[in-house]
Amino acid sequence: IEESEKFRIEYWALEEAKLQRMPGPKPLATRVALVTGAGSGIGRAIAQRLVAEGACVVVADLDGENAARVAEELGGSDKAVAVTVDVTSEEQIADAFQAAVLAFGGVDLVVNNAGISISKPLLETSAGDWDLQHDIMARGSFLVSREAARVMTAQGLGGDIVYIASKNAVFAGPDNIAYSAAKADQAHQVRLLAAELGAHGIRVNGVNPDGVVRGSGIFAGGWGAERAAVYGVPEEKLGEFYAQRTLLKREVLPEHVANAVFALTGGDLTHTTGLHVPVDAGVAAAFLR
Ligand code: NAD
Repeated sequence: IEESEKFRIEYWALEEAKLQRMPGPKPLATRVALVTGAGSGIGRAIAQRLVAEGACVVVADLDGENAARVAEELGGSDKAVAVTVDVTSEEQIADAFQAAVLAFGGVDLVVNNAGISISKPLLETSAGDWDLQHDIMARGSFLVSREAARVMTAQGLGGDIVYIASKNAVFAGPDNIAYSAAKADQAHQVRLLAAELGAHGIRVNGVNPDGVVRGSGIFAGGWGAERAAVYGVPEEKLGEFYAQRTLLKREVLPEHVANAVFALTGGDLTHTTGLHVPVDAGVAAAFLR
């Protein structure tokens, strides 16, 4: 018993020493980020913030034209390159990471932001709706994170993976079972990967936005009009309507989500992993009477 106890103590001392040697998060100015869905909305704002903090960014999006436009806005090939990628394709994801390595020498920050919203009540949601929603958000972010983990563990320098999930990952929203279930899947990926990758110095966190109407392609693509009709407000007033439902009475904009990504990856939250940060002006915190 004494021998096995001695072994146990030595084993854990060694593990502890390994962890101590793991580098902590690096300053953003030395980092290379790959942001999916960065051709529009929240992803674009995240890419802008990361470049403003000095990072190099791969703007990865299914819409290659939008990705190219955003990469150009961000200063072109010195700071940002565009990659056309469908996150449902393992091959295209591998190619996107390869492009990042070729352009900037590695990848140590990945943001799973690409998404669509199929928002229908249960009885109108087809098996195909469910599959498409899960293919892009649940399976897509799993594939992107797996590739990120391959690249980051090979580099041996730690890293960050951030999921842009949603308030709907935790709370039941109206009429969108496929979307909310896929977001809940992403939320659990955050915890699972935080547990599995922590010993490699790779932190995995999530951001849960809500009601980012202005600047969001998801809201512009029909969901906004539908919600406006349900709430009985003009579509152009939907952002203000959402703001009035919040504790802070403030509208949430794409740059507020980008602020949270910065706090988690380049700010002072250096010892945080497996966390979801709400960016919803307080909607998820309390019921309003
Ligand atoms: P958006 O439509 O402006 O951006 C989504 C981007 O993802 C688009 O550029 C689109 O081309 C890209 N995309 C879609 N399918 C893809 C695929 N298969 N491969 C690669 N890229 C793909 O919408 P947004 O509001 O900026 O949403 C960004 C993320 O934030 C989404 O995951 C969304 O679910 C999440 N979110 C948004 C809100 C909100 O209020 N807008 C709230 C919570 C969560």
